[in-house]
Amino acid sequence: MTSFSSLTNRDMAIDLGTANTLVYVRGQGIVLNEPSVVAIDTRSHRALAVGSEAKRMIGRTPAHIQAIRPLRDGVIADFDITERMLRYFIKKVSPRRWARPRIIVGVPSGITGVERRAVEEAAYHAGARRAYTIEEPMAAAIGCGLPVHEPTASMVVDIGGGTTEVAVIALGGIVVARSVRVAGDEIDEAVIDYVKKEYNLLLGDRTAEQLKMAIGSAWPYSDEPSAEIRGRDLVTGLPKTVVVSAQEVREGIEEPVQAVVDAVKYCLDKTPPELAADIMARGIMVTGGGALLRGLDVRIASETGTPVITSDRPLQTVVLGAGVCLEEFDRLREVLSTTGQE
Ligand code: ADP
Ligand code: MG
Repeated sequence: MTSFSSLTNRDMAIDLGTANTLVYVRGQGIVLNEPSVVAIDTRSHRALAVGSEAKRMIGRTPAHIQAIRPLRDGVIADFDITERMLRYFIKKVSPRRWARPRIIVGVPSGITGVERRAVEEAAYHAGARRAYTIEEPMAAAIGCGLPVHEPTASMVVDIGGGTTEVAVIALGGIVVARSVRVAGDEIDEAVIDYVKKEYNLLLGDRTAEQLKMAIGSAWPYSDEPSAEIRGRDLVTGLPKTVVVSAQEVREGIEEPVQAVVDAVKYCLDKTPPELAADIMARGIMVTGGGALLRGLDVRIASETGTPVITSDRPLQTVVLGAGVCLEEFDRLREVLSTTGQE
């Protein structure tokens, strides 16, 4: 590569999700996709591992190692750990010699001003020349290709690990928003509770998530399968295998699924009539990893009487949308926030 400058410019967009963090580098696309997990040694308070490596430790760590998800509930429970995680990911995708980048970070729409500044601060500590935040529903809408700047309203539902965010967007702004702390994690917990109650079997978090992904659903489907799952028998304390049907899993997760649907209904209800008519005509865009739950689209459509579209790449829409803001910075500047000066 011939370049007069040996410094590489790596402007980046980051989706700081409750479950997964993705990094997009300008001109390159997505370069990192790892779980938002940090493994901490509780004796020294040192970070032992971050991302995929830390997630592998969940549920199998000795007592003094704790795998922490610092954004689990869509709020930054631990600033210090969030900052360490963000810095680690930024460093990981940065070349040795780099020009200080512009960094856009997607944040849950429910976070406070203090948290927003803390995220910016973390980006500065990690070497940003200028840090911006973008509300995740806005980034998701842009990432799904919705016409956020038009007067016509769009509705986006982003179902992540810790939170479900519903937003109605028109003319470049969020008109109505609802963020609830019910999403993929609560669905996993409901699977655990169900199997505990029905089979006296204790499942690990990972097993519950895998069962949900394999056969979970929000609406009946044809040829519903069953799955064998292994856990610990709560009576004998020994490992045990049971067979669970798709219908049982659907019943087990009914409560959190209904809470997600209710968040959508609540937002529709709060939407001014003209905008609601736009949404009826154009449909509701569902995204985030939770959008992959089988039949959720049909379920939301049937309960709201509104067409539903599932995004093509639900796990990537936020980072892709923030990436579009990076690529077309001047055109989309107004959807970004920053407390620093430009
Ligand atoms: P966040 O933005 O909060 O980090 P993501 O958008 O990355 O969250 O989505 C993570 C959630 O999506 C997890 O709860 C995960 O279990 C769920 N998920 C991923 N794939 C599927 C699937 N195939 N079926 C159901 N849920 C899924
Ligand atoms: Mg997300």
